[in-house]
Amino acid sequence: MRDNHLHTHHSYDSDADFKDYLENYEGELVTTEHYDLSNPYSKQDDVPDYEAYSEEIAALNAQYGNRIKRGIEIGYFQPREADILSFLADKDYDLKLLSVHHNGVNDYLDEEVADMDKDAIMQEYLDKLEYAIGRVEADVLAHFDYGFRLFDVTVEELKAYEAQLRRIFQKMIDHDLAFELNSKSMYLYDHEHLYLYALGLVKELGCHKYSIGSDGHKLEHFRLQFDRIQQILDEFGIGEREII
Ligand SMILES: [Zn+2]
Ligand SMILES: [Zn+2]
Repeated sequence: MRDNHLHTHHSYDSDADFKDYLENYEGELVTTEHYDLSNPYSKQDDVPDYEAYSEEIAALNAQYGNRIKRGIEIGYFQPREADILSFLADKDYDLKLLSVHHNGVNDYLDEEVADMDKDAIMQEYLDKLEYAIGRVEADVLAHFDYGFRLFDVTVEELKAYEAQLRRIFQKMIDHDLAFELNSKSMYLYDHEHLYLYALGLVKELGCHKYSIGSDGHKLEHFRLQFDRIQQILDEFGIGEREII
């Protein structure tokens, strides 16, 4: 299976080169570069340069046997929706991830968020995620737990949001988005148990579209724990044809 969530230097927070991945893996690559408007972390609009990105990929594809596809990670932020839609209108990507990364004041990974009220942050984030689905066309709902990555959350605690999670995942299915297993969330932020719980819900709702991504920003994290993820997919009876 392909790593469907990966960054290079075309993202504001990565220095990785395509060759880091190309020379350490023989299969197909897709990178999903950050597009985050009004990013409170960088205090700017982070927009991948479509021309430079496309040109670099075309050159590498000629050299490495057409192994790279083009992708984007769309950081949805409601006040900038019109700008997001107009940016995407004339671009052609093979894979689009839908994410919610910030609330205009904080990225949910900002250190100070860890000291804020867990329930208030979780509720705010889930409301934004629920709203974002369907507002822009995409293929994958990325890291459903991004807003609470910094928190230790038990399955019991997450169950308090089960009704809303069911609405979110139903909306995801209705909009034909894949559910992402984000191995950075699962193994670097120790949220595997939350993904196992969420998988139970999405399966029950009839989801047949899944995407596996490391969210790697460097070679060390590329295809992180994909063997373990394969085991989980087998345990849940998720077959190859359900994986995009
Ligand atoms: Zn992200
Ligand atoms: Zn990412």
